[in-house]
Formats: sequence, C-alpha cells, structure tokens
Amino acid sequence: MSVRVRFAPSPTGFVHIGSLRTALYNYLFAKGQGGKYILRIEDTDRGRFVEGAIEGMLEALEWAGVIHDEGYKTIGDELQEVGEYGPYIQSKRLKIYEKYIGQLIDQGDAYPCFCSKDRLEKIRNAQKSEGKTPKYDGHCRELKREETEERVDRGEDYVIRLKLPENQEISFEDLVRGSMSFLTEDIDDQVLIKSDGYPTYHFAVVVDDHLMGITHIIRGEEWVTSTPKHIQLYKAFGWEVPQYVHLPNILNKDKKKLSKRQGDVAAGDFRNKGYLPEALINYIALIGWSPEDNQEIFSMEELQDKFNLKRVSKSGGVFDVEKLNWMNNHYIKDCDPERLARLAIPFLEEAGYLKEGQGEQEIAWVIDLMQVLKEYVDYLSQVPEKAEMFFKEETEISEEGMEILKEDHIPKLLEAFGEKVKNAEVIDEAFGKQVFKDLKKETGAKGPKLFKPIRVAVTGETQGPDMGLVMKVLGREKILKRVLGIEKIQ
Ligand code: GLU
Repeated sequence: MSVRVRFAPSPTGFVHIGSLRTALYNYLFAKGQGGKYILRIEDTDRGRFVEGAIEGMLEALEWAGVIHDEGYKTIGDELQEVGEYGPYIQSKRLKIYEKYIGQLIDQGDAYPCFCSKDRLEKIRNAQKSEGKTPKYDGHCRELKREETEERVDRGEDYVIRLKLPENQEISFEDLVRGSMSFLTEDIDDQVLIKSDGYPTYHFAVVVDDHLMGITHIIRGEEWVTSTPKHIQLYKAFGWEVPQYVHLPNILNKDKKKLSKRQGDVAAGDFRNKGYLPEALINYIALIGWSPEDNQEIFSMEELQDKFNLKRVSKSGGVFDVEKLNWMNNHYIKDCDPERLARLAIPFLEEAGYLKEGQGEQEIAWVIDLMQVLKEYVDYLSQVPEKAEMFFKEETEISEEGMEILKEDHIPKLLEAFGEKVKNAEVIDEAFGKQVFKDLKKETGAKGPKLFKPIRVAVTGETQGPDMGLVMKVLGREKILKRVLGIEKIQ
C-alpha cells in the first residue's frame, strides 16, 4: 500500500501556524514513506470564502517549503491542477457529492430533514435547560419516502442528515491517541448536505478522502469527535476506513489554544517579520514531535528522514517565541551571505535607508553590513534599528563612551588614527587589523586603552562587532567625519 496523505485547508485567508504544522507533518510523513502529499481546498462553506485566499495560502506553503505533489499549483500567473485525482477543490466536486448522497438515501443511511431553524433552536434550548447536550431529536428520521419526495417537489427547504444507527459503539485506533470509542447516542445525526445544496465538511471530507485514495488522515485534534461520524459514513459506503492521526494543539504560554489575540499566528506574519522559512519549519516541527536524541537543528531533509508519527505527543505543545527567535538567529548566522543580504533589503528599504533598487546595486556592501549585524538580530525586521549607526551622519556617544574619550592620550590617538584612515588605500578588514598594530607602536596605547576609544569614536558604543568589518561598512568618509567631529569636541 503506498501512502497518500492530504492537507485540506479551507480558504479563509491565511495559514495558521497550527495548520502549517499539520501540513508539515503530512508532508514529512509522505516523504519519509515514499508516498504522496496532496493539497485539497475545502471551500464548501461559501459564507467564509475570501477572495485571493487560495493564492495566498499556496504562496505561504511554498515559502515554507511544504510542497504538495498533487493539487492546485501556481504556474506562471495561473492556478493549475496537478494530479490524477482532481478536481482538488470541493466546489468543483458537487456532482460527485450528489451521486454519493443519492446512494446513501437509497440505502436508508441518510434522510431529508425539513425541520425549520426555529424548531431546531427550540429543541436545543429545551435540551439545554434540562442539562442535556443539544442534539437533533430525530423528528424527520422516519418520514416515508413518498412524503419526503412530495415535500422536496413542493419546494420546501431541507437538509440531508446522516442516519446514525441507534445504540452502537463506534471505535477506531488513532496512531497518536490510541483506542478511541464513542456511543452513537452521544452523536448527532450530522447534516451532510446543507439547504444551499452544498455538502458539509463532514460529508465532502469522507467522499474526497476515499476517492483520492487517502491512507492516513493526519489532522488537528479538534476533529477527533467528528471522526465517529466519518467512520459511520465509510461503513455505510462499504469503504475501507483510513488510519487516523490526530495532532495535539499548539498552545500559548498560558496553555490555551494559540490564537491571534496573543500575537502572530499566521505563517505570513512570521515571513513579514523576517523569520527564515527553515527556522520556522524547524521550530514548529518540534512542537508536538520529538526526535529520539536531543538534536534541535534539523534541515528539511533531516526532518523527512527522522520524522516519525510514533513520537508525536498526545498533549499540546507550547509555542515559545523566544525559542523560535533563538533558532531564527541560528539560521540567520548560518545563512548564505548573499541570500541574507537580499532578504534584508526590503526591511532597509522600508526604513528609508536604501532607495528602491539601491540594495541590489550595492549588494556587496549590503552583504558586509549583514555580516556585521547577523549576530545581533533575531529576525530581520530588527535590522534597520541595528543598522542605524551605519546610516546616520553622526554618532551619539554614550555616557560611558564619553568617559573613555576624556583620557589624556585620546587626542593624539584619534589624530593618528584619522591620518591612517585618510591615507589608507582601502578600508577593509585587513586595514582594521593593521591599524591597531601600527597605532600601538606609534602611540604606546594598548589593550582597552587602544581599542575602546577608537570604537567609541567610530561607533559611539563601547562594545560591538568586529571593528575591521564595521570600518569597511562605514567607509572612509563617515569614519573621518566622526573622528574629526570628536577632535573638535575636545
Ligand atoms: N477543512 C478542514 C480544516 O479546515 C480539514 C480538516 C481535516 O483535515 O479533515 O481544518
């Protein structure tokens, strides 16, 4: 049996971090098993449809590197279907659902229900006031076929419900949660077709998963209680039930389900803040799954290799943004310099430090700038703040810095340094090394008495990145202006 899994989002506008992890686990499992990973768009809730949402989702998944084998893909400017099991969007599969619901009605496993919203509301309220869990009371379950046909012909509004067998137990083995068992008394006769003729999620998901040959259903734990209804549908059709895998929730620090109120939750939010996709993927892979050893840094290939459903935990995992930041900083430091520069350019443009196109023209300079800054940023939207000193004409010198510049040997030291900067052929890292050696010889200053004042004069700070690289990025003019400015102050 070859593995086929799917990620089945509704196009509501963005990819939640929890959904991205579901997609990732499906993808990793498929890759690890030599199977196929399918993307199916579940758009049967027309009220929730958002224009452009499909394109946005595809873009986010592609950015994250969670690439599907079958489903919609953006090819050029167009959405195209790839794969043999389409359409991969539910709104184009209505005819299919029509056929299968017909079969269920004929078999007596589903029935039209004409109950009005009002009536349903009333029974729900009555049940609630008796302390019972609200549930459809079966009013239309036993209507005769002639009557239902006549009422349908008359144009009455109706839905189609699943006819659950009475007093039965529905059980399944979940690969993460173990044996699960539900009693049909506790389950509603689920609406399968809504009054607008569209299928509900519950019906479409089963028909599609079966027809698309899905072998493992890996999805969020919020669907556990729906699973017995789905299994009942498989049984009614005589189809083989797939393997279920329900993933634990991703939680906030306060142990509640991760929600927008507490901060960023969309993959796009992290992209916009300048998180690297490989960092986000590495981090979310570890919320809910753990490797056998203590390894923390995983490339996508390593994840494909090592990911294993057996080590997915039952309980929710906390989304810890500090850990993510640490990991992102790791990937930033590890990033190819040119790629890092290109990733940083939009942030520098937005801050007004670079004009449009300038970053590309001066890419070598941006590369150097990012080599200086990479240690100091957790995500790239922090770059402008850290880069400020390279763009400002003057430095602001801290109080501590001012103290350092008050010492007697400073005027001579800065003058000698200024001369060297003026006369240097190029200001680069080699110059940065040589100049301190020469100044030591010439002025006798050494250690902190040599390094600190120069750093303060050039950067305004008493500590910071390698001075050779800092000077290279600043360039002769800015260094001189700053050093001469200080000479004037004194
Ligand atoms: N469309 C459902 C969702 O939005 C998919 C659930 C499932 O994977 O069965 O989460």
